[in-house]
Amino acid sequence: MYDAIVVGSGFGGAVTAAKLTTSGFGTLLLEKGHRWRRPRHGDPNENLHLGAPLANLVDGRGYPKAAGDTDRWGNPQYVTRQSTDLRYILFENPQTGARSGGLFEDYIGDHMMVTVGRGYGGGSLVYSQVNLRAPSETFQEPGWRGLRFSRPALDPYYDRVERMLLTFAQQWDEVPRRGAVIADAMAKAGVTCEPARLGNFRIARDADRGQPPVMNPWGRPVEPCNGCGFCTFGCIFDARQNLTLNYLAVAEDSGRLEVRTDALAWTIEPLADGYRVRWRDERSGAWHVDGGRVVVVAAGAINSPELLLRARDLSRSLPGLSFQLGRHVSGNGDAAFGVLFPDLAADFKAEVFKGHVFSIVSYHWWRTGRFIIEDTGTAPLGAAKYPLRREGGDGRYWGPQIKDMLRDHYATGMVGLGGMGIDGANGRVTIDAHGKARLDWTRALVPGDRTFELMEGIRAACRTIAEAGGGELLHEREWSDDRRMLGVHPLGGCRMSLSRAAGVVDAGGQVFGYPGLYVVDGSIMPGAIGVNPALTIAAVAEKLSDGIRDALGERLGRRKRDD
Ligand SMILES: Cc1cc2nc3c(=O)[nH]c(=O)nc-3n(C[C@H](O)[C@H](O)[C@H](O)COP(=O)(O)OP(=O)(O)OC[C@H]3O[C@@H](n4cnc5c(N)ncnc54)[C@H](O)[C@@H]3O)c2cc1C
Ligand code: SF4
Repeated sequence: MYDAIVVGSGFGGAVTAAKLTTSGFGTLLLEKGHRWRRPRHGDPNENLHLGAPLANLVDGRGYPKAAGDTDRWGNPQYVTRQSTDLRYILFENPQTGARSGGLFEDYIGDHMMVTVGRGYGGGSLVYSQVNLRAPSETFQEPGWRGLRFSRPALDPYYDRVERMLLTFAQQWDEVPRRGAVIADAMAKAGVTCEPARLGNFRIARDADRGQPPVMNPWGRPVEPCNGCGFCTFGCIFDARQNLTLNYLAVAEDSGRLEVRTDALAWTIEPLADGYRVRWRDERSGAWHVDGGRVVVVAAGAINSPELLLRARDLSRSLPGLSFQLGRHVSGNGDAAFGVLFPDLAADFKAEVFKGHVFSIVSYHWWRTGRFIIEDTGTAPLGAAKYPLRREGGDGRYWGPQIKDMLRDHYATGMVGLGGMGIDGANGRVTIDAHGKARLDWTRALVPGDRTFELMEGIRAACRTIAEAGGGELLHEREWSDDRRMLGVHPLGGCRMSLSRAAGVVDAGGQVFGYPGLYVVDGSIMPGAIGVNPALTIAAVAEKLSDGIRDALGERLGRRKRDD
């Protein structure tokens, strides 16, 4: 019996695992994705970049190739590569038919589609490293009422997280050119913006050229960011501070963490003195059962509701879970467009493939529209997944017109521009007969609806910026034509609230009706955060895991350890 079992190793799970292990509690961490590592410095066999043959990347079963070594718990370590091959980043597990291989998982519903990161480190493996604190107004939204969360209350926890992630305040001369092109257009529109705070080590200077990695404060080798632009595919330089380099490193170094990767938690059952988690080894197909005095579900906004829905409705081992489970899912108001700037000066081209992927943020519309605008420079991912069309064109996403536009402008005059904000959180996660998550939006996206107005507000803001800069707004199909919410920041599904009638967990993250069972991740957010959410998820996890540690300490009669 472990003191604690944590399911999922993203922002919620990593923070909690670090807190519990450094407080003396033996913890088992189950993560359904792979354990990835950076390529060995200077090893040409591992440092495979874009265009490498697929046979170098994946084995006969479709799994990314392990480099042949294992971590200290015997799990194969897979090497992160810079590849945009969708078979490498988004493939199905050939044994089970489940999507179980790559760095991403897509969930596609009729009116909502999200992409989430997977692997040891969760979304931090692929995130764009934008580290923003939520504005005060986020916590004044109805869902947060009575829960005693506010910006001043969370600030000390944000401080802790920023220290751990080595959050870095870019200066203007470190903003990539494509961010500068957008900032210039914003200035012409009378819109203010600022360089975003990033979760990376720092931007490389000329003096860093050819230098070997240095150690971060937790003894993990990292390099300064060289602007290669592959942040959303896993930074092979460890410049972007994913969670394996900080929180999970601290947890491992405590000697009290056991990690199982490729380990899918299937269901949870109560015991007299804790909970039993039934999980499947995705490589061998073998089933395992482990017990923990405390179980913390931190599988993210789609998969935490999925796991608990299986426990409520399939195995029926937790029948008393709230009726609200799976409801109130927010897309965090994600909306993405493109802009074509056809006439940029020769010395001010957008250089879309250079630089870290997000760089500037504007709060210009926050007070009036509760949304922010950012450059969205995920060029390789965007190009691969989200087709664009011209507003004044023939309405097609293909054909000679689009081909000409891409040929003439793609690398030098097309940029991503989008936003996020407070939506109506009307998404819902359900499970099918096989226990797999399905996702949809439950409210009509029509004029007058909060989400519709938000999305159209973001579109209007992007058009204003584009036109002020002499550009043309480009439309992506999901929202513009199909009215489908599309994003990478899902929240909710196990929302915090004051009662079981209104939510799934209380303000301490404990599941109503099930003492010792917690949810600590993006799924417990009572609504949209309105800005990039990872820092807030981690700050809330810092706060809640203090309480879990104290409760566990009391139960086991152990003295609390203060930070
Ligand atoms: C491409 C991309 C870019 C992003 N950029 C940013 C950004 O710049 N800034 C920002 O703030 N946010 C960003 N995000 C969002 C951010 O990554 C998420 O909000 C954040 O990771 C959510 O944290 P979490 O702890 O809720 O869950 P996650 O980080 O998603 O972690 C959940 C983990 O649980 C694992 N898991 C799921 N189910 C099970 C199970 N049954 N058993 C075992 N393990 C399981 C998953 O594999 C995953 O590793 C981005 C996301 C994506 C996809
Ligand atoms: S741009 Fe920087 S942070 Fe992003 S992948 Fe490249 S080195 Fe890493």
